[in-house]
Parts: sequence; structure tokens; C-alpha cells
Amino acid sequence: MDTLVRKLVLRITLRACAAAAALAAAGWLLAGMPVAGALAGVVLVLAWELSVQLRAAGELSQLFDADAWSGGAFSFAELPQQLSDLESRTEEAEQRLKQVLKALRSTARSFPDAALVLNDQGEVVVSNRQARRMLGVRKRLDKGRPALKLIRDPEFASWLQRGGKELVRFKSPEQPDAWLEAQRVPYAEKQFLLLVRDITTAVLADKTRSDFVANASHELQTPLTVLTGYLESMSEDEDFPKRWGDPVQHMASQCDRMTRLVRDLLELSRLETSDTPPGFAPLSMMDVLGDAVQVGTARCAGQVDIFAEVESDRPLLGEEFEIRSVATNLAINAVAFTPPGGKVVLRWETSRDGGRISSTDTGIGIRREHLPRLTERFYRVRGEGSPVVPGTGLGLAIVKHVLNRHGGRLEIESAPGSGSTFTCHFPPHRVGDAP
Ligand code: ADP
Repeated sequence: MDTLVRKLVLRITLRACAAAAALAAAGWLLAGMPVAGALAGVVLVLAWELSVQLRAAGELSQLFDADAWSGGAFSFAELPQQLSDLESRTEEAEQRLKQVLKALRSTARSFPDAALVLNDQGEVVVSNRQARRMLGVRKRLDKGRPALKLIRDPEFASWLQRGGKELVRFKSPEQPDAWLEAQRVPYAEKQFLLLVRDITTAVLADKTRSDFVANASHELQTPLTVLTGYLESMSEDEDFPKRWGDPVQHMASQCDRMTRLVRDLLELSRLETSDTPPGFAPLSMMDVLGDAVQVGTARCAGQVDIFAEVESDRPLLGEEFEIRSVATNLAINAVAFTPPGGKVVLRWETSRDGGRISSTDTGIGIRREHLPRLTERFYRVRGEGSPVVPGTGLGLAIVKHVLNRHGGRLEIESAPGSGSTFTCHFPPHRVGDAP
């Protein structure tokens, strides 16, 4: 007999004897019927064991789901056959998995972009062949190395460290003339996929367009200066026929608009094409914001209450002309989109995370869907009761470029009717020590 079965029989017999003895003693003492007591004990133990075995059998057949096992009810006799079926099905699944993995590997190889799986520390877990070609990442040697050590570009470093979700452009570490664009794709828990593609052709096309705009703008400057000069002389000339007063005024304001457009286009193309990184001049934010307040006040003819709050005496380290342009653009926009009687605050703050220039207004606000597009060239919110405010549509594009060049970023919070806050974040290395 099987040892397992022998043990089971022995256990049941012992239990039955113990129960028979106990109930025989009880039957003899209480009713003088020891045999009936012993019999009752044996019957009780057998009934209990039977119920235990039935329950176990039920659980077993549930465990071996009848449908999953060749469609019939589970039976121990069929166990060897079922096990061998299971084995062959596992083998088939393994083969299929191998084929899928092979297909995946060949897709990754023929993938035109570099793909790197990075862990939450920014270290390389896996890389494909293109990552080797475009970024110089070596399959085995660079496994576990921080991506920042492989792609040494300040723009990329700041983007990776702050967990940027947008696309980032940087120069190829392998070919000096090539431009790359990286994108972060959520991948698995504590890992993400870094997709990098070559955008050199697009960058060159962009540069050609930018050069064209810059040249055209440059050529427009002289005729505009001449026109503006003549129009000024006409409007100041006492002998000039009065009936031409309004048309001359109108022409002068259009010339003024074109001059601003040309100036902004030239400024934007300089920012886009400049290879010289911005300097680190310590800028007194009291002066920078104070001047922006003056420009804002003049623009709204004092109808909006605009003032500066300089909460830190630490200077911003940057290119003076560019930072002034940021503050002025924010101030002009804030007063332009705030109805008379409203309030605008320009603020400078510093912390361990860096510095922040912000403008907060009590103006008309902006609907959420426009926010991501505001820094595009010529993007302006139209309709929806937006006031027709003169402007070039280039101000925020300039702000964004200046911030990019300084390793910073623009954050916009706004809601219709609740005003807007534009915050320019600068990294810690762009904030100097207090004098
Ligand atoms: P411009 O002000 O010359 O039109 P910008 O690039 O500076 O160009 O701004 C783009 C658009 O963003 C504006 O036309 C306006 O619709 C919106 N905008 C900018 N600043 C504000 C603000 N403070 N409040 C409301 N809307 C704003």
C-alpha cells in the first residue's frame, strides 16, 4: 500500500479507537451501554473523516479547472496525459515568445532613431544600435553610466534633470554639425525611454528661413526710417494741408507698427541663430524691473497700476539686453491685457532652486487651450471677446528664446477673468550672491 494511504488509514483508525474508547466510557457511566457508546464514537469519527475527504476532493477539482484541462472533468488517471499536454503547450508558448522577441530586436535594430532605456537615476539600462551611432553609447561598456556623462550638453542636462516632458534640441556629441532632438516616453515603473532623432535637415531649413527673415527685415529698416522721417516732418509742418492730417497720422502709426515688427523679427532671429552663449553679468533686478515698470506705465498711460516687488537682493547673472527685453515684454503684455483700474506686479524672487521673474496681472486671462501655443511666433488669442491690442505676436517667442539661452523656462498660469501669471524660472547657476 502507498505510504500516504497507509498513514491516512492509521490516522483514521487511531482517531476512531480514541473516540470509541471515550464514548464507551461515557455510555457505560451515563446509561450502562458501553458498546453503543463505542459504536457511536466510531461512526462519528468516520463521518467526520468522510466530510473532510469530500471537501478536499472538491477543492482539488476546482484547482484543476475542468475547462482548462482538455474540456473534461479532472481525473487523476488522466494526469500524466494532461501534464504532457501542458508541457507541449508551454514549449509552443516559449517558441512564440522567442519569435516575438526576435521580431522586436530586429525592429529595434532597423529603428531609425536612437532609443535608450534609462532608470530613474538617468542611467543607461539598454541601448539600440542607433544610440551607438548617434550618441556614441557603447552597448556593454556604457551600461549603468549616467546619460548626462554620455551627452554633455547644458540644454539636455537641464531638461533631463528637471524631468522635462517637452522635446529638447541639442548638438550631437558625435558629429559637431549634427542636431538632435530628444523625447521622454514613459516606459515602465522607475524607467523611461529616451528617443533621440536626427533633426539636422530640419534645423538647416529653419536656419535658411531665419536668415531670409533676418535679411528681409534688415533691408526693410532703411526704407522704414526714411518713411517715418518724412511723415514726422509732414505732421510737424505748419504749412502742410490740414486735410492730410489724419492720413499722415494713420501712415505714421502703421510705420511705427512695421518698425516694431522688423525690430522684433531681427531680435528673434539673432536669438535663434546666435552661437554665443549669454554672458553672466550681475544684473540689479531693482533697475531691470524698475525700467520695465516705467515702460509699462507709459504704454497704458497710467491707467493700470503697475509696480515692482524685488524680494531678493541677489542679482540675476545674464545678458543684460536680453533680460531687460524679457521684463519689458511681460510688462507691456500685462498692461495691454488688463483693463483700466487693474493691477500688475513684476516680482523677482530667489531660492535654492534658482531665481524667478514673474508678472502677475488682474487682466482678462487666457483660456487653457491657448496656453501651450502662446510662445509660437505670431500666435495671438483672437475672437472670444479678446480686445484688439496692437502688438507683433513675437513678444513671448522672444521671452522663450531668451530663457532657453539662459537655461530657464517659462511657466504660464491663467484663467479667463482671473488674470495671468507669467513666471520665468532661472537655474541656480544664474543667480549671484548678494552684494
Ligand atoms: P503680442 O503681445 O505682441 O500680441 P506676445 O507673443 O507677447 O505677442 O503674446 C501673444 C499673445 O498672448 C497675446 O496676443 C495675447 O493674446 C496673449 N497674452 C500675452 N500676455 C497676456 C496677458 N498678460 N494676459 C492675457 N493675454 C496675454
